[in-house]
Amino acid sequence: MNGLLQERFRAQVRARPSAIALVSGAERWTYAEVAERTNRLAHALRAHGLHPGDRVGILLSKTPAAILAILACVEAGLVYVPLDPASPPARLARIVTACEPRAILSGATHARLLAETLAVPGTPAPAVLGTLESAALSAPAGTRTFAADALDAVSTAAMAPAVGPDDPAHILFTSGSTGIPKGVILTQRNVLGFLDWAVPHFGFQAGDRHSSHPPLHFDLSTFDLFGAFTSGCELHLVPADTALHAGRLVEFMARSALTQWFSVPSVFNYVMSFDALRPDMLPALRRVLWCGEVLPTPTLAYWMERLPGVRFTNLYGPTEATIASTWYDVPAVPRELHVPVPIGRACGGEAVYVLDEALAPVPSGTIGEICLAGVGLSPGYWRDPEKTAAAFPALAGAPGGRVYRTGDLGRLDADGILHYCGRRDAQIKSRGYRIELGEIEAALATLPALQESAVVAVESPGFEGHVICCAYTPRAGEAPMPAALRKELQRLLPSYMLPSRWASFPALPRNQNGKVDRPRLRQHFLAEAGR
Ligand code: AMP
Repeated sequence: MNGLLQERFRAQVRARPSAIALVSGAERWTYAEVAERTNRLAHALRAHGLHPGDRVGILLSKTPAAILAILACVEAGLVYVPLDPASPPARLARIVTACEPRAILSGATHARLLAETLAVPGTPAPAVLGTLESAALSAPAGTRTFAADALDAVSTAAMAPAVGPDDPAHILFTSGSTGIPKGVILTQRNVLGFLDWAVPHFGFQAGDRHSSHPPLHFDLSTFDLFGAFTSGCELHLVPADTALHAGRLVEFMARSALTQWFSVPSVFNYVMSFDALRPDMLPALRRVLWCGEVLPTPTLAYWMERLPGVRFTNLYGPTEATIASTWYDVPAVPRELHVPVPIGRACGGEAVYVLDEALAPVPSGTIGEICLAGVGLSPGYWRDPEKTAAAFPALAGAPGGRVYRTGDLGRLDADGILHYCGRRDAQIKSRGYRIELGEIEAALATLPALQESAVVAVESPGFEGHVICCAYTPRAGEAPMPAALRKELQRLLPSYMLPSRWASFPALPRNQNGKVDRPRLRQHFLAEAGR
């Protein structure tokens, strides 16, 4: 292993201090500027009593301040935990309670969200609050505050590494089926292992211009950030008002002369549905990568036809195995539009298995569960040995002696290429977000107007991938309207988890075992959509 993340970043700072590292709107920061501010913040965090290994929550939109916060934590050996500013206080409070950050870094934009989160009963107050945007934050009693604006006197020197490659580096919280988000612990070795394969594989060059589209609590962003900064590339933050506007998005890609685009497939679908991409609009672009869910083949064909000469790569993998575990370069514009794109072969340092329930390999061509091992494998879930043991069982012969059971179904073809065949449980992807339907049901169960409810997902022809549908039975004497239920749910869940279709039933349909008949509910919503 060739140095830690901060050491690789520093090597780029030394090699090209005045090269552009970070671009956000009109702001352009050089490598030297990013390093100076990062180090200043890292020293300030230490000066405020934070020790290597302490957790630091980061409640910021994707801005240069948020990127600095992440880099400063890495520099100071602190474990950063991105907190999704699109989540309501109740959900953020569960995450803060679970990971007990010693400090939270935030800013004026999210001051109210932060105050409401910390006011949720039982939420531990951090010892330190740092504001990375101008205005001060109101702090609970006993919490110290500092402002990054006022850090001029603090040292800008680099620090000696305080933690090793196998210590936790960050925790990413994903949807949990019981209603409590799961914290996936990731180490520097997990990230470095992926970079060691991906950087040479994709041929990153200093001066390349990379997009940064996915939110910071989603691990694809880890690749954008550290792939760019450890290779001397420019990182271009996709402006928030652009992310959901197909025309502006493509204009942004053109104006920034991006050489690499990486996002979830819903963005590709979106651009296609508005026919926003014209041939030759993006002459600088060399690589297009996607990960996180199935990219429909017609969408891929649309993009490839308009961008000849660009390399298109499907990356597959869950957060628990760090960024991506398999890759597939699409050799030519697909002609058979009903045939899904394979997810390919294991990335360097990773191992991929297709196994049965007893963790024995299934014959080639047979569908089994995709299990992963190798350098990207997370040590497990934060403070949850039971879930960790269930999801990461031992497997003799696997690198590290354990695998992660993804819950994804897959099939190896005769050439050893892996194909994705759906899920074996109630986890879905909608607009790229990983969602456990159980987390939505757990929130619905707290609404007093409902007797019972069930959530199913149906595939959507639109850009979002899956549409979330809620079937419910009102409590006697109640007649809640979907709009009111949605509003109540908004207090508990981020907007991407809110059901968009609702149906009231006198009683939910049951199968012979007395369980809610989910296939029938799916049929109901599909038929309703058809009408
Ligand atoms: P996340 O942890 O948010 O990255 O979500 C991981 C899950 O997303 C995987 O277990 C798959 O179900 C799905 N996924 C990731 N990449 C792909 C892909 N290229 N094709 C299909 N599904 C994918």
